[in-house]
Amino acid sequence: MALYGSLEWRGLRDRLLRERGRKCEDRGRTGTRIYCDHVVEICDGGAGLDVTNIKLRCGSCHTRKTADARAKRHGLR
Ligand SMILES: [Zn+2]
Repeated sequence: MALYGSLEWRGLRDRLLRERGRKCEDRGRTGTRIYCDHVVEICDGGAGLDVTNIKLRCGSCHTRKTADARAKRHGLR
C-alpha cells in the first residue's frame, strides 16, 4: 500500500502517537510497539488519512484485528 510510505501517513501517525500517547486503545497496553491501525481497512473502502478511522493498537491487537478483517472479507464469519 503506497499510503504507508507517504509523508502524509507518517505525519499523521506521529501526530496521533503524540496526541493519544503510545498506548493500545483496545487493551491499554503501553511499553510496546504501537501501530496505527485502520478501523475499516483501506482495501475495504476505509479512509486512509481520516483520524476517526485510525486506532492505535499494540502488536497482538493489530494482528488479531487484521485476521478478523480478513476472515470477514472472505465471508468466513
Ligand atoms: Zn492491544
